[in-house]
Amino acid sequence: PEAGGHEKRNRRIGVMGGTFDPVHNGHLVAASEVADRFGLDEVIFVPTGQPWQKADRDVSAAEDRYLMTVIATASNPRFSVSRVDIDRQGITRTVDTLRDLRRMHPDAELYFITGADALASILSWQAWKELFDLARFVGVSRPGYELHIEHLSGHLGDYPDDTVTLIEIPALAISSSECRQRARSGRPVWYLVPDGVVQYITKRGLYQPRDRDAASAS
Ligand code: ATP
Ligand code: MG
Repeated sequence: PEAGGHEKRNRRIGVMGGTFDPVHNGHLVAASEVADRFGLDEVIFVPTGQPWQKADRDVSAAEDRYLMTVIATASNPRFSVSRVDIDRQGITRTVDTLRDLRRMHPDAELYFITGADALASILSWQAWKELFDLARFVGVSRPGYELHIEHLSGHLGDYPDDTVTLIEIPALAISSSECRQRARSGRPVWYLVPDGVVQYITKRGLYQPRDRDAASAS
């Protein structure tokens, strides 16, 4: 409301980082809700770089995750996708994502959007003081995860109230893990991910049992 008249305000840009393997409707609702509540001009989805090794599973190729994110966001004029993390070598750290986007949008106010689970882990192991200088943080509710940041209280004293904001969004109990598992066992992912993403998963044969598994199963 205060943004009317001739007053020029800085662009507000949301940053939604994730593995997006695959991107699903929970991600899209989170971005859309935060954009609405904070009057964001744009939300940039940023698929993470390719982990050179991951203990529990193989992450799909960065190019596939990037393209699925493009497909999922293409129809929304306020959504875009950035390659900064997939084009940078090494493990993605939120601080690098925000430094790169800050460089590209020096005058914008950045809002880093994360689910309750990811917020807790980002703020527990990364240099969050620098993170807070680069962006505001918005933690969204996510079914199955408590939304709390007690471990930060006391440290946040010097920062403005809007440094970290927690908001409730419509609950979508969807995870990429669940989508992968479904695709792998031939169950539907329709309506959990955008139609184009369902079709892309099929087209590329993503999340199918690997040869190694097939061999050991036979
Ligand atoms: P995985 O099951 O592989 O961990 P994921 O569903 O958690 O996948 P990510 O790519 O890890 O998806 O998540 C990117 C961001 O989106 C994180 O901040 C995560 O907390 C948030 N997020 C994911 N799913 C939801 C959801 N259903 N509601 C709200 N936020 C979500
Ligand atoms: Mg996750």
